[in-house]
Order: sequence, then structure tokens, then C-alpha cells
Amino acid sequence: MEFVTGLVQLQEESSCPVCLDYLKDPVTINCGHNFCRSCINMMWKDLDDTFPCPICRFCFHNKTFRSNRQLSNLTEIAKQLQVRRSKRKRQEEYSVCEKHNQFLTLFCGKDLEVLCTQCNFSVQHQKHHICPIKKAASFHRKILEYSLEPLKDNMERVEKVISLQASKIVDLKKKLPSVTIQHCSNTIDYILSCTFYSCD
Ligand SMILES: [Zn+2]
Ligand SMILES: [Zn+2]
Ligand SMILES: [Zn+2]
Ligand SMILES: [Zn+2]
Repeated sequence: MEFVTGLVQLQEESSCPVCLDYLKDPVTINCGHNFCRSCINMMWKDLDDTFPCPICRFCFHNKTFRSNRQLSNLTEIAKQLQVRRSKRKRQEEYSVCEKHNQFLTLFCGKDLEVLCTQCNFSVQHQKHHICPIKKAASFHRKILEYSLEPLKDNMERVEKVISLQASKIVDLKKKLPSVTIQHCSNTIDYILSCTFYSCD
């Protein structure tokens, strides 16, 4: 992995999937996903019997999470690294859900639709495969590259045929005047001979 790519990834990992800012007082819920303490509290505030993870939707029966000191320290380190784009820049990469006013950070593989963490809770997507947009994007990019490969080969073949045909046309054009003259003189000879014989 390239150094810069590694740094960017480290910094992505230290941001909250809900607010997209650096994790503030990071907590880990039982499925292993991390959020700002205030963000997970906000996500779960109107729920009372099941508490789904905003990312993987694993349902918990109580609001349990634990502070993640290690992640908090890592986040502090990531903040010191200057390659990260500003929070505003990162937030600009995502649109906001019109319904829930939250960043559309998730992707539904079934509906091919971008979702916010609240949309992710809706029954509509309950059985659908959901993953973070960035992961979906790189996955689909790979599929696209993979399916482009044979197309590229075909393109190359078609281009070769076209250039071959083009060179043939050039050759023909070069020959064309002499062919035409030859053809005309043959025709004239023929007409003359016919005329000659008919006169006879
Ligand atoms: Zn947050
Ligand atoms: Zn989870
Ligand atoms: Zn939404
Ligand atoms: Zn869906």
C-alpha cells in the first residue's frame, strides 16, 4: 500500500460514519462498529426496544457501548497528520438525505440507492445488502474494470480493422485515376470496335 493511501485510510477509519467528522469520544458497539458517543445516542434516541447498528443493522436489545480509548488516541494522531482534506471538503462529497437530513453514506446493493443511516433502519431495506458508499464504489469500479477488459480487446481489434480498411481505401484512391482511364479507354475501344463492325 502506498504511504499516502495508508494515511488517508487511517484518517477515514478515524472518522464517524454518521457525522463524517473525526470521532469525538469514540464508542464501540457490540458488532464492532464505532461512532461518536453523541452520534450513536442521537441515532438511538427515539428507539426503545431494539437498537440497530446504523451500519450493519445488527439489532441489540439495549443501548450498550464501550468507550474506545485506543481509537480515541488513534484519532488524535490522525488529526495531527495534515494530508486529510477539511471536514467541509469531505462532507461536500456526500449529499444529504432529503427525508432525514443526514449524510448519504451508505449504499443499498439491492435497490442501487444511496441511503443515510436513518434510511438504513427502514423496513424497506431490512433484507438488503447495505455497505458504506466508498466500499460499494470501489467494488463496482472493480467490476466495471473487469467488464471493460474484453471491451477494450474488442475495441483494439475493431480499431485495427478500421485502420487496415482505411489504408486499403488510400491504396485504392491512389490506383483509381489509372484504373478509371484504363477502364475508359477499354470502353472506347469496345464502342469503336462495335461501330466499326456495324458499319461493315
Ligand atoms: Zn459522529
Ligand atoms: Zn455494526
Ligand atoms: Zn434518509
Ligand atoms: Zn434497499
